[in-house]
Amino acid sequence: MKSSQIRQKFLDFFASKSHQVVASSSLIPANDPTILFTNAGMNQFKDVFLGFDKRPYTRATTSQKCVRAGGKHNDLENVGYTARHHTFFEMLGNFSFGDYFKREAILYAWEFLTSPEWLGIPKEKLMVTVYATDDEAYDIWNKEVGVPAEKIVRIGDNKGAPYASDNFWQMGDTGPCGPCSEIFYDHGDHIWGGPPGSPEEDGDRFIEIWNNVFMQFNRDEAGVLHPLPKPSVDTGMGLERISAVMQKVHANYEIDLFQHLLAAAQRETGATDPESPSLKVIADHIRSCAFLIADGALPANDGRGYVLRRIIRRAIRHGYKLGQKGYFFHKLVAPLADVMGDAYPELRQRKEHIIDALKTEEEIFGRTLENGMTLLDTVLGGGKQVLDGDVAFKLSDTYGFPIDLTADVCRERNVTVDIAGFEAALEAQRKQSKAAGTFKMTAGLAYEGEASCFHGYTESSRAAKVIALYKGS
Ligand code: ATP
Ligand code: MG
Ligand code: MG
Ligand code: MG
Repeated sequence: MKSSQIRQKFLDFFASKSHQVVASSSLIPANDPTILFTNAGMNQFKDVFLGFDKRPYTRATTSQKCVRAGGKHNDLENVGYTARHHTFFEMLGNFSFGDYFKREAILYAWEFLTSPEWLGIPKEKLMVTVYATDDEAYDIWNKEVGVPAEKIVRIGDNKGAPYASDNFWQMGDTGPCGPCSEIFYDHGDHIWGGPPGSPEEDGDRFIEIWNNVFMQFNRDEAGVLHPLPKPSVDTGMGLERISAVMQKVHANYEIDLFQHLLAAAQRETGATDPESPSLKVIADHIRSCAFLIADGALPANDGRGYVLRRIIRRAIRHGYKLGQKGYFFHKLVAPLADVMGDAYPELRQRKEHIIDALKTEEEIFGRTLENGMTLLDTVLGGGKQVLDGDVAFKLSDTYGFPIDLTADVCRERNVTVDIAGFEAALEAQRKQSKAAGTFKMTAGLAYEGEASCFHGYTESSRAAKVIALYKGS
């Protein structure tokens, strides 16, 4: 079953259960400074959950474009290392705004997944979790749906901090949230990993496919939970993950949506090994970058634009690693539009603009990439275990290597980055630039010979922002 068919089936299923089919919203959240990019299907309905916005329907279903590359849900570090994480993915969701609650949500999810009329997944391949104290959800799964006790795991609140743990979903530090119940698929014992709740749960054997969130609270800035006007439901299932299940492959990268892109990435980089993880990273990153630009983002030195810049530069560096020293990344826009342009026409409408934006960034970064890599290779050549913070700083400051890009290279070589040293260098630079700035004010042209400091200043403030993003602010 093709991904496009699964997407359609999902929407059809929920339409048949009286849900309004609603279009995906933009990746750039409208009037919501609490998140960087749209990270879940529920984002566009936030105010509906909070009771501020009324819609002519109480049930909705969407296939939502999502990017998780910063803030609370940040999967950038995972891409290339797990079978299941992308920076860009499509989230299939069904929503109840004070209409149905736990029981219907669970019954619908199970019917869609296991009924032969819909996906027909064998029941014994599925496992579920419920929030630790959620007896109601446990009983629905166990008594009504008939999932045996050994396939239901209670997770959460085991550290004494109520709702601080997993199985309690929240879109950001504030906003709608609630306990959840997740559905996992067992890809088989030939793959490393353990069931949810076990020490090996982060492996890729049991892959989470669908999260059913029982939206009950709004978390305010002080962290206090306030009950929502009406208990609601928000669910999210990754299209790429469910496609992997239906197409009987393990990793998301093996599904139909990625084949054409991976082939194009190999062609444009000239890579010899079709299995290279770098090709997966590139195929992943062209999706987030192209969709973000289509939705109005542009590479920049701060904010959302800087996150985009980091993803683009990371992709370019992976191309470089594969031996491609020329510009290639923008050439993947056309193959992406071939595969996803039917579902997302903006890719075709804005194709030239996306290509131009990526090409410009390739040109800018292309000027310093090679020298930066030479520096890094030289420094790491001596069998170092830790990269000095000063070098990481120089790479960011002089060569335009975002700190996460440096960390990505280092991780490949089993080297850690001295982040504290990097931050200290950054701080020193900031102070120096401030002093230099004052000096310039008074001494005028006397400062001119050190103009590169000013370039450094912008780079440094950028890096400081990235650290802030990393820390989830
Ligand atoms: P994981 O634990 O695997 O990181 P999650 O618990 O962070 O997933 P949710 O926030 O519950 O994910 O999002 C709902 C669904 O969206 C997940 O069950 C999964 O199918 C999908 N999903 C989440 N993050 C990603 C991602 N980075 N790439 C692809 N699909 C994703
Ligand atoms: Mg996650
Ligand atoms: Mg999870
Ligand atoms: Mg989850």
